[in-house]
Amino acid sequence: MLISWIQKTTLLDYPSKVSCIIFTAWCNLRCSYCHNSEFVLPEKIAKIKDFIPELIFLNFLKTKIWILDWVVICGWEPTIQKDLVEFCKKIKDMWFLVKLDTNGQNPDILAELLTYNLVDYIAMDIKWDYENLENLLWIKYNKIDYLKSIEIIKTSWINYEFRTTIVKNYHTLENFEKVVKQIFPCKKYFLQNYRWWNTLNPNFNWESFNSTELLEFREIWVKYIENCEIRL
Ligand code: SF4
Repeated sequence: MLISWIQKTTLLDYPSKVSCIIFTAWCNLRCSYCHNSEFVLPEKIAKIKDFIPELIFLNFLKTKIWILDWVVICGWEPTIQKDLVEFCKKIKDMWFLVKLDTNGQNPDILAELLTYNLVDYIAMDIKWDYENLENLLWIKYNKIDYLKSIEIIKTSWINYEFRTTIVKNYHTLENFEKVVKQIFPCKKYFLQNYRWWNTLNPNFNWESFNSTELLEFREIWVKYIENCEIRL
């Protein structure tokens, strides 16, 4: 397991529970607005000298059995790590709960993790109307895998969320009904505002929404998905 960084404790990722977060490396997408080119682009990853050995992390977990509830596996796309399933098993064997963040481009791994009860919560990125992603992504987006992942997550027994990083002028309300149709019915949906800094595409200087616009967005969404929140 390639571990680039660990946040040892946080209360933010899973409300009222103590989590640690591990960040992997590599991603199979290239979102223009991504802030993490250091962990996404191979030429930048090659400059990272010190990945954290898996054993060090597992030993750290052993010392936190009475403190931590959740292990969050995120960034940049964990499902492309070849040993993710075995890694989750090792964490579950220590009785921690596992939350996985994903872009939904690897449905087979999601299905395997769910089949063997190796994940307790999944957060999946919804990039928006998948038929119009050209401006947002530099790489081909697999729509079939994306739709398969949504279906696998929605029909699973675990809690989950879908979330979208929204960018002004790209994410408009005109095509949002298409997005609703893709994910409805949905337990929980988060709108995350885009912030301009250190973007993967250095020329991507689109704007963020202001708070009034965000609330307008949410008002329309809650008509379809009751549990829709803004995550700042
Ligand atoms: S935003 Fe997420 S899915 Fe997109 S390139 Fe960055 S890490 Fe990958």
